[in-house]
Amino acid sequence: FAPWNDPAAKPYIQYQGITKRFGDFVAVKDLDLTIYEREFFALLGPSGCGKTTLMRMLAGFEEPTEGRILLDGQDMAGIPPYRRPTNMMFQSYALFPHMDVTENIAFGLKQDKLPKGEIDARVQEMLKLVKLEPFAKRKPHQMSGGQRQRVALARSLAKRPKVLLLDEPLGALDKKLREETQFELTDLQYELGMTFIIVTHDQEEAMTLADRIAVMDKGKIVQVATPAEIYEEPNTRYVADFIGNINILDAGVTASSADATKLTVPGIPAAIEVSRACPASVGDAAFFAIRPEKMHISLDRPVETTVNALQGEIWDIAYLGDVSIYHVRLDNGSVVKATVTNATRLVERPITWHDKVWLTFARDAGLVLTA
Ligand code: ATP
Repeated sequence: FAPWNDPAAKPYIQYQGITKRFGDFVAVKDLDLTIYEREFFALLGPSGCGKTTLMRMLAGFEEPTEGRILLDGQDMAGIPPYRRPTNMMFQSYALFPHMDVTENIAFGLKQDKLPKGEIDARVQEMLKLVKLEPFAKRKPHQMSGGQRQRVALARSLAKRPKVLLLDEPLGALDKKLREETQFELTDLQYELGMTFIIVTHDQEEAMTLADRIAVMDKGKIVQVATPAEIYEEPNTRYVADFIGNINILDAGVTASSADATKLTVPGIPAAIEVSRACPASVGDAAFFAIRPEKMHISLDRPVETTVNALQGEIWDIAYLGDVSIYHVRLDNGSVVKATVTNATRLVERPITWHDKVWLTFARDAGLVLTA
């Protein structure tokens, strides 16, 4: 499933040149975005970057100041929310406290004046889908946060929207429940074949759920790509820093070709070579970046010490169970992190505080980034 790589695929949701102003404040700036049918799409970014505004414009709760939004080829301008094929599930689930689960799920269907038999059938279908059949007669206050979240989800799905918009849907859940619900949500989306758009500031949530992620910054989209591409090939320092852990060092570009870049990091004797094109020119300042798990840490001096070999001292070790993170202070004073899996028992690994170590990495492991 990768319609975004298929030139013949029909765009489903199209934001075209969208700007949204609130008074003088520009919340979304001249933004273009295409989302495909059946895609699970995440809008990711820090608070206030415009994610929710983007979603609310699709749902019809806000109109763009400039530009247009097409849904299945139809211009959405002036179409009220209830006439759009979208349904939005809000951050606070807003269940009706005096209604039980069944009544909460049936509410929107009754409003739409569906026949009673149809309403009952859909409610049953939804209860089964979100695994809440035994809870049908409970009121919201008699359930856990995770269960309430599933009721809200069932209520949004019952109307069978073509597009379901989820604003931080798992924000209220604790870590374990959130992880469980994430998998339920992806299964559900796959089963129903709907298009899901999720707004989140939690990169792990976006990575777990989405087919593609748009990383946003101050009303603009900085990168749109699959979770793996975003992690492995971030297009800027901002994206690299926002997704996962990464070491970022100031560097200067000394040579570059179509598939290789040479860098120097002030205070580090070894040259750095990266097997990718450089986004900056020779002589320019850039950043060398590398994920902690891509560095190999060793007490032994590597055979090759003039390229991709950083010397340092163990500054701290964080034991996290599945992995340990070694904080290494380099010759130039910067502290970088190297992650080692604890697949083998720690007692077998001799590296400890204040040891002098070498960090080495493959030419294809590092990144060259601009701001
Ligand atoms: P969060 O994760 O905190 O919900 P967000 O990325 O979803 O953030 P938006 O809710 O889209 O951000 O808001 C983007 C910006 O637009 C914010 O600075 C916000 O204060 C502003 N904004 C949103 N709605 C309005 C409004 N109705 N009037 C004025 N400013 C608004």
